[in-house]
Amino acid sequence: MAQIIDGKKISAEIRKEIAEEVKAMKAEGINPGLAVIIVGENPASQVYVRNKGKACEEVGIYSEIIAMPEETTEEALLAKIAELNERKEISGILVQLPLPKHINEASVIAAISPDKDVDAFSEVNVGKIMIGNHRFLPCTPAGVMELITRSGISIEGKNAVVIGRSNIVGKPQAMLLLHANATVTVCHSRTKNLAEVCRTADILVVAIGKADFVTADMVKPGAVVIDVGMNRKANGKLTGDVDYAGVSEVAGYITPVPGGVGPMTITMLLKNTLTAAREQNI
Ligand code: NAP
Repeated sequence: MAQIIDGKKISAEIRKEIAEEVKAMKAEGINPGLAVIIVGENPASQVYVRNKGKACEEVGIYSEIIAMPEETTEEALLAKIAELNERKEISGILVQLPLPKHINEASVIAAISPDKDVDAFSEVNVGKIMIGNHRFLPCTPAGVMELITRSGISIEGKNAVVIGRSNIVGKPQAMLLLHANATVTVCHSRTKNLAEVCRTADILVVAIGKADFVTADMVKPGAVVIDVGMNRKANGKLTGDVDYAGVSEVAGYITPVPGGVGPMTITMLLKNTLTAAREQNI
């Protein structure tokens, strides 16, 4: 039976360390601050944004939630970002995605100063991740790395398979595993013999967005299985991309959903906000 990697517990440990660091920074006269912009009334986004504000408060980071109406123009949003780019008390800026259809997401991400881009979505920061010289960690993949390393699992020399090649999870995840000296294979919807490739994985990271997609027969006995997926079932229950019950019988380690990768993403955002504040005060 697989050992459960408890994301809630690991996240709480890291948030404690962050709270200590915030205290130390404040003693040095550095006050980290995060601005979160939300446009429109998407209920899921509202929950995420509220959670980000709450998390900041818990660790002592100043935060501002800027709620803009659905009909906000792209120009108005860009003007708001320009204003936040200039404000000293704001170290990090996050624009909650998705944006309403009339606003171009790429232009909005590009407008955030790379020094304040705590989601690490801008071309500059993505490039830095690629060459391994990154300041800001892509939040979800960085959370996955913390889950693995804080569980005492070594990555170097292991075969890692990532299913999914999105810009926010799969691709940066593959890069971080590569920088940690894993041998990395990235799979996607056109991959042939997916189950066979998955069975080569010592570490399998799944970020597809399809409930219970990865089954026990796709997993090598003893493998580390990290489930990034967040899917709502018809009964409203949250579930991952991995068939948890079946895969738990085969894997060595597994993350549950909820309570695995999910809690780590905001934690890594807090970490990035501290990094931004430090860099802006050198
Ligand atoms: P995405 O942009 O939709 O990308 C999904 C990826 O999965 C694509 O690369 C796609 O391949 C691949 N894929 C789809 N069907 C496949 C199949 N049958 N076989 C192999 N690969 C397949 O999704 P995302 O933004 O990366 O998110 C993935 C999941 O993680 C979602 O459930 C999302 O909710 C969750 N998520 C969780 C967190 C968190 O904090 N826990 C954060 C972000 C995302 P192609 O490229 O070929 O289309």
